[in-house]
Amino acid sequence: MSLLPVLHFPDPRLRKQAKPVVTMDASVRTLADDMLETMYAERGIGLAAIQVNVQLRVVVMDLSEERNQPRVFINPVILTSEGTGEAQEGCLSVPDFYEKVPRAERVTYRYQELDGKTIEATADGLLAVCLQHEIDHLNGKLFIDYLSPLKRQRLRKKIEKSEREPVPVL
Ligand code: ZN
Repeated sequence: MSLLPVLHFPDPRLRKQAKPVVTMDASVRTLADDMLETMYAERGIGLAAIQVNVQLRVVVMDLSEERNQPRVFINPVILTSEGTGEAQEGCLSVPDFYEKVPRAERVTYRYQELDGKTIEATADGLLAVCLQHEIDHLNGKLFIDYLSPLKRQRLRKKIEKSEREPVPVL
């Protein structure tokens, strides 16, 4: 397994569209393993392949407190969504920035497991939010795209500031 570098906003590669996984071969398994290792190392709860510069529809997640329930979603899609809610979100590609964005409350979704088996299920709560966030990544969309112009301006200023300040490399 190996750690993969995570792309940071405003890297244009985060705007690419991911392609469906057609063959569930060893390279997909390796990618999922590497993504999980990267997600754990970066203390994230979800990661989409686009974020590590791989344009495939692969998402990994672990929503457990103990960080011992890794999940892999191949070719995930939202089939239906209902209700509206707001959740505080962050993203490994937008470090140290958290904002509430609107999301559907409940989603029905379909994906494939690494063995090729197709699963269809319904989610609410954190899993529903995470699925919407990660599937957005596969379509080149970021959670900050939902922000009001004012909040987006605040983010832009924050990024400019962090780029100006010298960061000590130890
Ligand atoms: Zn994200």
